[in-house]
Amino acid sequence: MARIKYYYDTETCKYERIKTRTSDVISNLLGFLAVAFLIALAIVPVYNSYFKSSREAALHKENEELRLYYTMLSKEMKQANDMLASLQDRDDNVYRVIFEAEPVASSVRSAGVGGSERYKDLLEKGLDQEEMILDAFKKVDKLKKQMYVQTKSYDDILKFAKNKAHMWASIPAVQPVSNKELKRLASGYGMRIHPIYKVKRMHTGIDFSATRGTPIYATGDGVVTIVRSNLGGYGKEVQIDHGYGYITLYAHMENFNVKAGQKIKRGECIGYVGSTGSSTAPHLHYEVIHNGSKVNPVHFFFNELTPGEYEKILEMASVENQSMS
Ligand SMILES: [Zn+2]
Repeated sequence: MARIKYYYDTETCKYERIKTRTSDVISNLLGFLAVAFLIALAIVPVYNSYFKSSREAALHKENEELRLYYTMLSKEMKQANDMLASLQDRDDNVYRVIFEAEPVASSVRSAGVGGSERYKDLLEKGLDQEEMILDAFKKVDKLKKQMYVQTKSYDDILKFAKNKAHMWASIPAVQPVSNKELKRLASGYGMRIHPIYKVKRMHTGIDFSATRGTPIYATGDGVVTIVRSNLGGYGKEVQIDHGYGYITLYAHMENFNVKAGQKIKRGECIGYVGSTGSSTAPHLHYEVIHNGSKVNPVHFFFNELTPGEYEKILEMASVENQSMS
């Protein structure tokens, strides 16, 4: 409802009603609209620029953070790559050397994803986010493939190690009779005076003096190949094939505790000390044969002796005394 306005007429001394003309109303309205429009024109850009820039700033900040995280991620991945390289190096140059195996081919190592140089410079080029993410995924993918190859390689090494463990269990490595006080070694390997012929002869084993019936132990895992009795020579004799070119021989036994073809473990009793065959007193004549040659058994007592004890037994074995045959 339009308000009715009055004015004071000094001539008539009355309040007269103001008559508003339509043209005045229209011009007032236009004026108002014009001012409103101008104000809007001024406010909108200020409003826009203020809010837009704060959104941009937020995005910019987020971008910076992403870039920072990416840089950190890249560093982490580089560290993981370096660690992997060190594992590969140890694999090729330590484990595979110990187990006499060929190194893993570099083409297998790179797992068909190209060399490590491929992604090297990507970070420094100022990448778009998509490229950065793609790059990160590619790197992780490559790392996973290489890790897989490395794991497979360790599987191989485990197999080698298991074989090696089998080899260590098989090679003769202890004394064939209990000899903790180290007094039983009566005669060593080398030129010795024969007890019967009284001339110097090659003594191809070690003699352990022991009372009749003393247990004789297998010095390594293997298979009993020979169980035989001779009136002269070695008397009652056992031979064990340990594989890897090693055979041990036990002579002048009183009784056998094994049969030919029997599988045997180190430390199992194979028979008892006696004086059968060409022998002057109860003793065990023990030989180690490697690739067909009789070698000095004293070098094969490394499993149970301290360096001091080994020194002592070496000394005893080197005395050029009379053998017990
Ligand atoms: Zn002997």
